[in-house]
Amino acid sequence: MDKSAPKPEHIQQLSIGDNEEDLDPAHLARFQFERAIAWLEGFKDGLIQSLVAPKRTIEVYFPVEMEDGSVQTFHGFRVLHNRVMGPGKGGVRYHPEVDKEEITALATLMTWKCALLDIPFGGAKGGVNCDPKKLTQTELRRITRRFITELGDNIGPNTDIPAPDMYTDAQTMSWIFDTYDILHPGRNNLPVVTGKPLDLGGSLGRPEATGRGCLYATMRYLEKEGIGSSRTLEGSRVVIQGFGNVGMTAAKLFQQAGATIIAVSDSRGGIQQADGIDIEAAARFKEQEGSVVGLPDTLTITNTELLELDCDILIPAALGKQIHCGNAQRIKARLVVEAANGPVTPAADDILTDRGIPVLPDILVNAGGVTVSYFEWVQNFSNERWALDDVNTRLRSKMFDATDLVLTRWHAMRDEEEKAFAAETSAGEIYNVPVSLRTAALAVAIARIANVTLERGIWP
Ligand code: GLU
Repeated sequence: MDKSAPKPEHIQQLSIGDNEEDLDPAHLARFQFERAIAWLEGFKDGLIQSLVAPKRTIEVYFPVEMEDGSVQTFHGFRVLHNRVMGPGKGGVRYHPEVDKEEITALATLMTWKCALLDIPFGGAKGGVNCDPKKLTQTELRRITRRFITELGDNIGPNTDIPAPDMYTDAQTMSWIFDTYDILHPGRNNLPVVTGKPLDLGGSLGRPEATGRGCLYATMRYLEKEGIGSSRTLEGSRVVIQGFGNVGMTAAKLFQQAGATIIAVSDSRGGIQQADGIDIEAAARFKEQEGSVVGLPDTLTITNTELLELDCDILIPAALGKQIHCGNAQRIKARLVVEAANGPVTPAADDILTDRGIPVLPDILVNAGGVTVSYFEWVQNFSNERWALDDVNTRLRSKMFDATDLVLTRWHAMRDEEEKAFAAETSAGEIYNVPVSLRTAALAVAIARIANVTLERGIWP
């Protein structure tokens, strides 16, 4: 890019109607990518563009005998997006919305996430289209074993390493390990999958790692940039959408760090308490009742109302595309922290950035999970178990470093943009949305992959 004339973010636009926008996951991933690469210069023609396409896509159909004796066919995917930094890495999700486009977009995000955190992995993601809420443990075990068998040697400790994602957990990872181990006897197969139970090669700190990473990224952001005059979480009012592993862990840790959690939600709805929700009590209540809704001394609210509450920090920690062109104008948070993958759409990104509400992006905020997955993989190869403090200290240092990199790049981009702004406005042109933290994070990650691709040399 010509330094004297940076491309403002409005140059590329997805087609957006009055209250609708293009939400095709492939288009979203492509859009964010294009925006970031407008800031990268000095690479060979076509090199950066070549990083968009996934290296390999595996699509399988397989039958499973259900507990009622019927047979159901399931549709599964594993996409390996990029492997220049190391083996593919990424979760496996079980969800009714799983499809090839979504898994590909998520695998792409994994590539940028690992590069940003400087973890020697490429990006991958997998999933099976199913509704885990309607499946028994036996059915889930059969689906997992059959899916992993279908993937065969396309996964492996040095090629592609699955992990937990939406509606998969340590139990699912045990089945993945066991299946792979049965098919490959006589060697150390523990590093084939991460997020395993502690007594089966799992790492201390892995279950909380994504929520903890979210805490560290937010703390570092506040320390460097602040919200108003506040530079810590002490006394901040926080709203969290989602009370699964990530949302619940984040809620506990933010509360311990001095924040007041004024609202949380799960798929059945939200609860609000201006004086602060007792998160331990909410977790116990959800365990017994299946939802946080109905926790004594709280007000029941809808998910829509929750997102629009007046607060300092809003943490979407559930599904993608929750903040979109239809509600972004009504968001009252002063900082949005993306603990889920893709919870803010590009149109909403622009609206929020334009309104001066920074969005700390997913590839940074939720990278704690894959970071501790990397620690687990290292421990498995060396037959070691690191102490919890050791894991958390290393995680903090990775998250702080990555946050610093993003902020430094962001400030540099903003300086460039300001110069261009002065030039543009004096030339009578209209200036639009300022550069976002997401674009800065992606620019760092993509440049890293492009550099390593060149160092390795394009085959042949
Ligand atoms: N599924 C998580 C993610 O989206 C973790 C992936 C991993 O640990 O490999 O980052």
